[in-house]
Amino acid sequence: MPRLFVVSGPSGVGKSTILRQLVPRIPGLSFAVSHTTRPRRAGEEDGRDYHFVTDGEFDRLVEAGAFVEWAWVHLYRYGTSKEALRAGGDGDLLIEVDVQGADALREQVPEAVTIFIEPPAFEDLEARLSGRGRESGREVEKRLQTATGEMRRAGSYDHRITNDRVEDTVEHLAALVKRVRG
Ligand code: ADP
Ligand code: 5GP
Repeated sequence: MPRLFVVSGPSGVGKSTILRQLVPRIPGLSFAVSHTTRPRRAGEEDGRDYHFVTDGEFDRLVEAGAFVEWAWVHLYRYGTSKEALRAGGDGDLLIEVDVQGADALREQVPEAVTIFIEPPAFEDLEARLSGRGRESGREVEKRLQTATGEMRRAGSYDHRITNDRVEDTVEHLAALVKRVRG
């Protein structure tokens, strides 16, 4: 049975940065590409980072029962499709979801391994989000508000990893995946 590694963490903690480095390093591990109604950012690729869809398309997918889970996060909708889970074939899958998505996946796939990525300190989130410079001030505010609630849920994950230095976090995650695979 393919294993499911579920990764969550507040926006700006460094999930994309870490996962982009981790996935190519581990044979037989692929990234499950979610759908979102969020506009594509510079540097993101449709089909690699997300399947970027309109509100109408997202509605249609929900009605068609295409999602294993979906949720409103910040100002947009995000969902994991059944197809994204199948796309990993026989290999293991890494999937990035918010805390609501992790709750839903834990229920449906109890053997999933859940990992929460934390910042060294809350101030680092603000610095990283502002430094990334992709969101407006309003969006950064919204993400920081959401982060407070999300970080309270860290205790319900199997593993917690602090993203201090990117290289160390990638090492830590790679070691975790190897350990779980046995
Ligand atoms: P997320 O996917 O969790 O929203 P990103 O991967 O986009 O976060 O990272 C947010 C910003 O923080 C980016 O500009 C990224 O380069 C930076 N960043 C990521 N990890 C670290 C780290 N360990 N130390 C300092 N900056 C980091
Ligand atoms: P971002 O807009 O920064 O890429 O992602 C915002 C949030 O949406 C992050 O917390 C991310 O983990 C979450 N997210 C991404 N894909 C999914 C998904 O398929 N389902 C759920 N529930 N959350 C997701």
